[in-house]
Amino acid sequence: MNPYAKIVQDQLDFFNTNKTKDTNFRISQLKKLKKVMKDNESLLDEAIYKDFKKSSFENYETELSLVYHEINLAIKNLKSWSRRKYVATNMANMPGKSYIIPEPLGVTLTIGAWNYPYQLALAPVVAALAAGNTAILKPSELSLNSSNAMAKIINENFDANYFHVIEGAVEETTNLLKLKFDKIFYTGSTNVGKIIMKAAAEHLTPVTLELGGKSPCFVFNDANIKVSAQRLIWAKFLNGGQTCVAPDFILAEKGVKAKLIEEMKIQIKNIYGDDPMNSDAFVRIISPRHYKRLVELIDKNKVIIGGDNNEKELYISPTVVDNITFDDSIMQEEIFGPILPIIEFDDLSWAIKMVKDRPKPLALYIFGSNNKTTNRLLHEISFGGGGVNEAVMHLANSNLPFGGVGDSGMGSYHGKAGFDSFSHHKSILSRSAIIEMPVKYPPYSNWKRGLLEKLIE
Ligand code: NAD
Repeated sequence: MNPYAKIVQDQLDFFNTNKTKDTNFRISQLKKLKKVMKDNESLLDEAIYKDFKKSSFENYETELSLVYHEINLAIKNLKSWSRRKYVATNMANMPGKSYIIPEPLGVTLTIGAWNYPYQLALAPVVAALAAGNTAILKPSELSLNSSNAMAKIINENFDANYFHVIEGAVEETTNLLKLKFDKIFYTGSTNVGKIIMKAAAEHLTPVTLELGGKSPCFVFNDANIKVSAQRLIWAKFLNGGQTCVAPDFILAEKGVKAKLIEEMKIQIKNIYGDDPMNSDAFVRIISPRHYKRLVELIDKNKVIIGGDNNEKELYISPTVVDNITFDDSIMQEEIFGPILPIIEFDDLSWAIKMVKDRPKPLALYIFGSNNKTTNRLLHEISFGGGGVNEAVMHLANSNLPFGGVGDSGMGSYHGKAGFDSFSHHKSILSRSAIIEMPVKYPPYSNWKRGLLEKLIE
């Protein structure tokens, strides 16, 4: 017997009572979630600090505030999002009305990643509950303290047949994936994404996959270098570089590099001080395995900023490596740590080709002031989302659906997009039964064909 069969069945039974279809019920549960989180902020702060020295400020800035924002937005809008929407009716179906009813999918499973353990687990769950589903959440075992804290505050405050946290690693997730869910929302690596999608296919369960990849950052000669360096240094080294949409590498136009490097040195010092190891704004690497992987990626001969590390502290300083080519080992996988390689180019067509020859990235950033060049990049390269003269911040705007494309994922969330990811849009044609046109019925005739052509063409 699957250890999770009962809870999934219990959630299905609860879903079938139709209680979650009541929008007032959903609003009350979202308010409760916000209150439970607010009441336990210090517990959540302590747990994430234990996981990778993430400060209380950053926990609020990059995790809790985003979840609160999603909750507020859903509370404000879910009644209108859930309402049936009338659309035009075509000639052949007149007289009649056509409308779309958003309906919840049922029992949902959200699988979270460790790098933003609260945000990436709870923002999808907010969308699931707002859309009227029940939710099972499986946070990442790598951020164990944060996972424990979420399990405690949620399982103590919510009915398990409505919203429940199940902790665990591969074995537990594998068991969960054997069961039938109505939706699986997964955040994590591309390789595990394939395992999730295969398991979901067995039950024809729809998936949203929020995956990773190497996100390029173009910097052109006509960029405001001071502001560009400030924004991209913040975006790259936030969370110790362990951000799915962090700029993975820089493509610097020939002529801009020396100035950019000088400005990046200044900005690293401004943000993290003389010794980033002592800065409360600099997060540690999540595990010894990731630490080792990252240290091996640093080619000491190519370091131009940083390059320090401390195994006991799982610390790697903000590091910039220069004279990198697409053949270097650091360019073969997503870095997901505080190391920033620079590749120089003088032929934009070559740079575009190099990006397009690789898997479609989750994000792409353009620092420059030439609209023609910007529009060329936006037109020619496919990627999840991104920024012009900005990095990472696009995901803080709930009006922008957040998600990848190709190897970086499928589907999206945040705001209304999240609600839609967890909804089915049921299309209804409702006709009057007073009169009936004989056109569609046999026996067929030339006048019926003529009338059809008139109606349709
Ligand atoms: P991961 O794939 O190792 O783990 C993610 C989740 O999958 C965890 O909950 C884990 O328990 C589970 N899992 C791991 N192996 C599994 C298996 N064999 N079978 C079933 N479940 C399994 O990913 P990670 O290391 O936590 O996250 C890093 C990756 O996630 C990076 O590639 C990053 O870019 C990506 N990411 C993407 C987003 C996004 O929003 N697109 C956000 C954060 C991270």
